[in-house]
Formats: sequence, C-alpha cells, structure tokens
Amino acid sequence: LPFSFEVKDSDLLGRIGVLKVGGKSLETPYMFPVIHPVSQNVPTGELLSMGFRGLMTNSYIIHSRRREEALKEGIHKLLGYDGVLMTDSGGYQVLEYGDLELGYREVASFQSLIHSDIAVTLDRPTGYPQEKRVAKDTVDYSLANARATLEGFGSSETVWVGPIQGGLYFDLVTRSARSLAKAGFQMLALGSPVQVMENYMYADLVRMIITAKRAIPYATPLHLFGAGHPLTMPMAVALGCDTFDSASYVLFARSGRYMTRGGVLTLKSMKYLPCSCPVCTKTSVMELLELDHPQRTRQLSIHNLFILKDELQACKEAIVEGRLWDIVEERSMAHPRLREAFLEFAGLSSELTLGTPALKERGLFVRSASDLSRPEILSAQRRLADAIERSSRSARVGIGEGEGRKGSQMGKGGDLYKVHPIFGPFPAELEFHYPLGQTEVGDMVPQFSLEAGKKQLRALGYRKVTIAGGSSGKKKVRSRRSRRGASPSLRSSSARPR
Ligand SMILES: [Zn+2]
Repeated sequence: LPFSFEVKDSDLLGRIGVLKVGGKSLETPYMFPVIHPVSQNVPTGELLSMGFRGLMTNSYIIHSRRREEALKEGIHKLLGYDGVLMTDSGGYQVLEYGDLELGYREVASFQSLIHSDIAVTLDRPTGYPQEKRVAKDTVDYSLANARATLEGFGSSETVWVGPIQGGLYFDLVTRSARSLAKAGFQMLALGSPVQVMENYMYADLVRMIITAKRAIPYATPLHLFGAGHPLTMPMAVALGCDTFDSASYVLFARSGRYMTRGGVLTLKSMKYLPCSCPVCTKTSVMELLELDHPQRTRQLSIHNLFILKDELQACKEAIVEGRLWDIVEERSMAHPRLREAFLEFAGLSSELTLGTPALKERGLFVRSASDLSRPEILSAQRRLADAIERSSRSARVGIGEGEGRKGSQMGKGGDLYKVHPIFGPFPAELEFHYPLGQTEVGDMVPQFSLEAGKKQLRALGYRKVTIAGGSSGKKKVRSRRSRRGASPSLRSSSARPR
C-alpha cells in the first residue's frame, strides 16, 4: 500500500496520526515548510536536520524553470531531499500567469513523472472575496480535474490530494468535499484560508473547516492550505486539520517580521528576542539588523520555523494530555477576533466530543463561562442525566465529603444527592467519578448554588428535598480540589464544625 493514515491518539477533533507514503512516514499534525525550487533561502538539508521530514513545493515553478532537470533526476535528487515531498499543482500560478493551456493531464503527468510523493490535482482557488457564480465555477473546474486525474493517474505511485474549494460559500464547500471523498481521494485539502486569515476572519475560518470536516469521513486526513501561523494552528488542529503548509515563515522573514506564539512582531521595533531557538540564543536584535537582507531573511526564517514547530509540538503534547481545549482557549486571548473564533469553536462542543476521550487522567479546568461548553462537560452531563434515577419521593442533599460512600445511607430517608458547582445535583455515590471530583472551577464561572440544586431536584419529581450531613460523625480532611470546587453558597450554608 503506497498510502495509509492511522490515528493513534485524539482530543476534540484533533488527532495524532501516522501518515505513510511509499516507504516514508510522517507523524501528524505536521506542517510542511514550503520551499522555492529555484531560490530557496534555507537549504533543504538544514530543514531536515531541524526535524522537518516533509516539504512542500510548487510543481508549476519546477515545470516552467527546471523541467528537463526534474524529469531526468526526479524531484528528490533535484531538491537534495529524501523525505516526503508534496507538490502543489500551481493552480494559482496557472491563473495568475494566464497559462491556461496547461491542463490537468500535463500537470498530473509531470508530478507523477518527477516522483512527487503527494500531489495536489490542478485546481482553481476560490479566494476571498468572490462572487458566488465564480466560486461555483472554481469548485466545478477543480472537481472535474480531480476526478479526471484520479481516473487517469490513480495507479501511479504518487498519492493524489483532492482540493476542496468554495471559500466562504459553505454549501459549495460541502458539495466539493463530499464529491471528492466519494470520488475516492485518500487525502483532501481545504483551499482558500489565506485571505480569510489575512482579513482576521478567524470565526469564518472555523466555519469553513468544520463544514469541510462534516462532509468527509473521519478517517480521511485533511490538509489546510497555507495556514502556517502560530495563532491559528491550535484551533485548526483542534478542528481536525492534520497537515498544513507554510510559506509564511520565509515571507514574514523577508519583510523583517518575527513570529512569537502570541503574534508577529517587527524586528526593527524590537529590543529583545523572546526565544531560545539556536538563532536567538546566538544573536541579538542589533546583530540581526546589521546583517545583509539574504542573511537576515535566512536567520529569521529559521527562527520562524522553530516557533511553528514548537507550537505543533505543544499541540501534540496537549492532545496526549487531553488539554487541547485549554491551549486553544489560551491562544485565543491574543486577539479579539480570535476570541470571537473561540466562541464559534465552543459552540461546536457536541461535535468536538467525537474525538474526546470519555475519561481523562488530568482534571478539568473551568476558567471561563465558555469553558462550560467543554465537550468533557457535555458528555458528563449526558451520562449524569442517564444516571439519575428516582427511587423515592424524597431526596437528601449531602454537603460533607465522602458521605456518598456510605451505602447504608442510600434509600434511608430518601435518595442521597450532592450538588456540584457546575453539574448541579448528582447521585452522591458518583462523587469521586470523573469529572465530578476532578474539576477546578474559577471564581468567574457561574455556579450552581445549593438552592438551585434543590430546585432542580424538585423539578425531577421529588416532593421533599432536605439537607443531609453536617452530623455524620467522622470527617475527612477535604482536599484542596474539592474545597475549590464547592460553590460559595454551598460553603456558607454549611453548618459543620471546623
Ligand atoms: Zn528564535
């Protein structure tokens, strides 16, 4: 099999996967640095030694500037790189330079003859803003080429990627994605996010990605074209984008822009280098500014790549630890428009539960009201609704820790409940079950009061709801966690001796 994709771990819709192409493999989420086949500033060998085992380049530029060489040597030898090479079709350039006689057949045949590992079929980017009529044409054109490529070149060793177009017309995105998946593409790529991102339309980016994800099988890897920006990467990962490509590391470097996790800075106006990558530990702002342009671009490119790589590593670690939501929320604080996007993202909670483990080893942080939409909380609420079963006409609400363990108390004088600041009333024997006992709640989050808990129990059909506990003898020392988890009103109404 020349191609396979295996998901090893997941959180939200983000996943850690292994993408196998031919005899080579990449761990996802992965970002392909985009390299220029003629004027590459950072040598491919250096990219490999930085840990980039896959690169992306443009087959159109190779075709127009180094065709004979490429056909003779193959793309790997041409670029001095034996990792995974992905080629873009150059649909954008074909359009830009009006080279319209170059059809899908020439583009596909060339990519296959130079032994590209992964190749995008000839498409026409929708772009933004765009009229719907034109957007529809880009989808139809890209789809027809994609189908014809798979038919004519499907048996070659090159893995074909179907480009999803449609821009911000979500009905078109859905049709495009569905049709490509149905045509049999093993990997898909979502187009047109660049202008959307340049216009800070991050909430639209969320809508675009989730629209595409809904239309394709969960097992199909999804590439997001040109989304190499540290601010949006965690959110794109959490929405299920498996691979990215970035030319931004070098484009930013050329104009003297320095990436940080919190945003992009201008070198000229900086005093310090807030980074410990090999570039930043050996130099200073002054020294970088004194370099000639190609040298400075190269140093800044390497730094920018380290930032992007760091951010991806952080996302992967967060997936393993089950705290991808936390990192997405943290990054959203960097820009008001990202915050907007985060609220859009939080609204997708029920879909995000799909890849979220039901049981996590780490406790849950509920730091803001929007954290109440965490998929872990939604799943727990569903499980709780199933677990609540009325066996008596009266209910007692326990306020001391550990009472739920005393089975003898159940049924005696009514069903025993506790009130959780977030989940409300729950059967007391579940006190130490995940995530009831493992949730840290911030003071800014609206919480259940004891009264609200009692009211909810009455709504469940209990005639009589009383307070239990406070007199049950042996007390355990309450953990810091449960102390913080208790709501203020719960605490103030506690009559227990201290
Ligand atoms: Zn650095």
